[in-house]
Amino acid sequence: MLTGEQYKTSLDDGRATFFEGERVKDLPGHPVLGPAVDHVAERYEWLGSQAVDGRSPLSTVPQSAEQLRSMVEVVHHAGLMAHVTYTSIMTLATAAGRIAGAAPQYIEGINAFIEDAQKRDIRITQCITDAKGDRSRPPLKQDDPDAYVHVVDRSKDGVVVRGAKLHISGASLGHELMTIPTKAMKAGEEDYAIAAMIPVNAPGVKIINTSYAPRHADTRDFPISSTSACPEGFVIFEDVFVPNERIFLNGEVAQAAVFAHSLGLWERLGGLSAMADGADLLVGFAQLIAESNGLGGEGHIKEKISEMIIHATVIRACLEAAVTHSEIGPMGAAFPNELYTNAGKYTGAANYSLMVRHLHDIAGGSVLTAPSVADLENPETGDLVRKYMGTRNDVDGEYRTRLFHAIRDLTADAMGGWYAVTNIQAGGGLYAQRIVTRRHYDLDGAKRQALAVAGLLDSPAGAKG
Ligand SMILES: Cc1cc2nc3c(=O)[nH]c(=O)nc-3n(C[C@H](O)[C@H](O)[C@H](O)COP(=O)(O)OP(=O)(O)OC[C@H]3O[C@@H](n4cnc5c(N)ncnc54)[C@H](O)[C@@H]3O)c2cc1C
Repeated sequence: MLTGEQYKTSLDDGRATFFEGERVKDLPGHPVLGPAVDHVAERYEWLGSQAVDGRSPLSTVPQSAEQLRSMVEVVHHAGLMAHVTYTSIMTLATAAGRIAGAAPQYIEGINAFIEDAQKRDIRITQCITDAKGDRSRPPLKQDDPDAYVHVVDRSKDGVVVRGAKLHISGASLGHELMTIPTKAMKAGEEDYAIAAMIPVNAPGVKIINTSYAPRHADTRDFPISSTSACPEGFVIFEDVFVPNERIFLNGEVAQAAVFAHSLGLWERLGGLSAMADGADLLVGFAQLIAESNGLGGEGHIKEKISEMIIHATVIRACLEAAVTHSEIGPMGAAFPNELYTNAGKYTGAANYSLMVRHLHDIAGGSVLTAPSVADLENPETGDLVRKYMGTRNDVDGEYRTRLFHAIRDLTADAMGGWYAVTNIQAGGGLYAQRIVTRRHYDLDGAKRQALAVAGLLDSPAGAKG
């Protein structure tokens, strides 16, 4: 397994990665991206401490609901880069099982890659979302044929791909880009049915980073985002050569959606697990700030917090149901239940902004205007800030100020904006979660129940339904 230091050194591999108009020469030393690298390195160390027989816990394939439950916890604790790596590996394993009948020629390569990735203890990011051009048109009808990643040249040794994948979490902090079609493809779109593993430092790959990490000199006012921000990558493939052994699908349009569908399930399970903790965090902040404000017992505040508690509990229940009702796939791996995973992820995402509204409503305007830690330290202002930010003898002004900093950082500043959009879009967006939930719900069963209650089961229309 890699140590944190070895991970940092591994990033110095000639990769072309950019931030705010400049090429980044030293990722670990970069003022905005460096802390994210430190965080990944620190999580490598933690995973090292959890190793079993020298193997990373990330190489465990769960074979029962119990193992799946413990993997969800381990992966969540191991941080975003471990999460995207684990879900990539599980996606490949899931997809291999699903394409084995129709496209067996790729199975050996997929399995060899998984084994090698686990041995090298690398980080893999998920490149699915294409630039997509005009959303109403398929790839072949786009004005620019590069709107979806596609093959532009073929030889006996491999293919050359061109296009871009956007919003890729942690792209610059990983070692490999799992590049897969974003949707189903049709006959004629063979060049777009391409799935491949592309090294981050492959010639022709360029990654433009964005980050909500705080730019302020004093990051103490950003207690959460200063340590947990992870950049997104705008990944460009400028005629990148991919050798045959790294190609996992090449022209089989009928199988194009298999990878994205396999990923969706694991990605949303990860999203659901993060949301379950995130919802508890919002409840915790709401209760703490209500108590600090002297309003913990006030009726309308308790009402709002009760609603937040119900929200958090429903999400947790969906996570639990997704794991408990997991299914064992053809290769013995346990898969989270699709219905509960998607319904829970959707519920968490769709109601998130209402929960944040409750928190802001309860907390008050100091979410935005609480003075900084430096103001607390300034001899001219510190005691005055403490005096006026305090509410009672047992509620220290500094404690309350810092609570407000955490609430602002999490919900009302750059990271807060990031969460507001990410919860809705990541994992394929609300629309995708609605479609998958509907597909896995027993709609016929519900119709039968309704007909039975209406006494219409034996009517001709009822029998048809
Ligand atoms: C912070 C963050 C991290 C992310 N991480 C990753 C990642 O690691 N890897 C990755 O691959 N992706 C990632 N994503 C991308 C995410 O999955 C997409 O943002 C999401 O799928 C929506 O795609 P889009 O952004 O192109 O928006 P659009 O597809 O333009 O969607 C905008 C709206 O238009 C609707 N729409 C789009 N097309 C149609 C159509 N044909 N007909 C009807 N309605 C349509 C959508 O339902 C949605 O309501 C991330 C996104 C964010 C914000």
